Amino acid sequence: MNAPYSPGLLDQLQLRYAKGPVKMLIGGDWVEAASGETFETLNPSTGALIAHVASAGEADVDRAVAAARKAFEGPWSKVKPDERTRLLLRLAELIEANADELALLETLDVGRPIQFSRMIDVQGAIGQLRYNAGWASKIAGETAEISAPGEWLNYILREPVGVCAQIVPWNFPLVMAMGKLAPALAAGCTIVLKPAEQTPLSTLRIGELVLEAGIPEGVVNIVSGLGRTAGAALAAHRDVDKVAFTGSTVTGKAIIEASKTNFKRVQLELGGKSPTYIFADADLSKAIPAAAMGIFFNAGQVCAAGSRLFVHEKVADQVLEGVVNMARGMKVGQTLEADTMIGPLVSATQLERVTGYIASGREQGASVLVGGETIGDQGYFVQPTVLLDTRPEMRVRAEEIFGPVLCAMRFGDDDDVDALAGRGNETEFGLSASIYTQNITTAHRLARRLKAGTVRINGSGGVDPALPLGGFKASGWGRENGKAGIEAYTELKAVSVAL
Ligand code: NAD
Repeated sequence: MNAPYSPGLLDQLQLRYAKGPVKMLIGGDWVEAASGETFETLNPSTGALIAHVASAGEADVDRAVAAARKAFEGPWSKVKPDERTRLLLRLAELIEANADELALLETLDVGRPIQFSRMIDVQGAIGQLRYNAGWASKIAGETAEISAPGEWLNYILREPVGVCAQIVPWNFPLVMAMGKLAPALAAGCTIVLKPAEQTPLSTLRIGELVLEAGIPEGVVNIVSGLGRTAGAALAAHRDVDKVAFTGSTVTGKAIIEASKTNFKRVQLELGGKSPTYIFADADLSKAIPAAAMGIFFNAGQVCAAGSRLFVHEKVADQVLEGVVNMARGMKVGQTLEADTMIGPLVSATQLERVTGYIASGREQGASVLVGGETIGDQGYFVQPTVLLDTRPEMRVRAEEIFGPVLCAMRFGDDDDVDALAGRGNETEFGLSASIYTQNITTAHRLARRLKAGTVRINGSGGVDPALPLGGFKASGWGRENGKAGIEAYTELKAVSVAL
């Protein structure tokens, strides 16, 4: 088998990061934090230091917002839609040309097995750019007739919303960054992007490619920093017109509070506790691997992870045996090995959180069908875990664990579609759901009743930039991707002319 990465590239990265702290991008310049402060980013497979990174404070955020404002009012406002398309496509080409390096960075920093970084992170980022590039020239206003006396011409402009703060989490840094940057750029906005402090490296490397692509300085600024300092300063900044955030529901609430300084627009992609339903007539050859990968992929650190499984009692034993076999059979291990399926959790904090949930499940009476333990004493590994005998009020069943922990429940013929939807809807979240059945009536009736931003029937898959992404209830505000995702970076202005 070919090496899954180039060892020479790994050496180059190590040399680069040994030279000194990684700088951040403000107004086209690579700069240290005004305070000189840095933070460490670690390799979750080993706990070893990868790099020191500039840690932005309020002064740096001020500078970045000022640079974004200057670019928005100045050069970027004169760039025509077809040129924005060209720039986005150029950036996609550069990402493709640097795919090996970006995939390796993502694996080192996030702890994603190398086989997935290339396929999911790099390709996902490119897909976002190519999809949104097409939108730049298709954003259009409307005209309307009104009922007021007299003759009027009314037109409705769709304008870029302005300077956007974008704050992303650590689970898919590249895709998250590009899922926010690409529509904002296509719509004509300028950006201050803050990657998560656990995983800043691929995003900062993208900053170099942004400049190489010819995107004018100040249009994209990247401030690396902590949530409580850099993130909070961005969310509260009075000259930021919109904040787009992906992360936890708790931080989402803090963003709403902070945004009140100037009533900036707020877009939130938050947590989930998504149900998977497997009916007795389901194609189990698809449903079993989907249920397992739905929660074990990326060690469960996926907002839309299928963390609750509702399975019909007639097939429950077979399904659970299949999921347990997959949990036991998948290689959990070092992320640079080609056949590793599951890597570590992102940090010691996350490991503590996930093991804390498993312990609370045990204390509250859940039984562990498989897994439940940490692995080794290096890095932050936990076994893929399935819990039985949970109740709706238990923390493991109600709260987002963000780890490879599945709560499995049985249902019977007495549970009609309304009852099943009720069980699916029982948490505060409403991000995603999956249904496996051959009965199209059951599938569509259940899909209608679920409070979820995405429903998948008889198939699994990743995020597609063409489909709106977001949640009901505490899973967020607004939608990313698709037409709604572009429009979320615009403001409407009605102009009425008396003729
Ligand atoms: P988090 O909320 O702690 O951090 C996310 C980002 O917010 C980071 O960049 C962090 O630095 C920043 N931040 C933290 N505190 C802040 C504050 N007070 N003000 C401004 N910014 C702040 O979340 P996390 O633990 O890093 O990520 C995991 C969570 O993200 C999970 O709950 C998961 O469901 C959610 N998530 C949601 C989606 C989605 O699309 N809905 C996608 C991925 C992750």
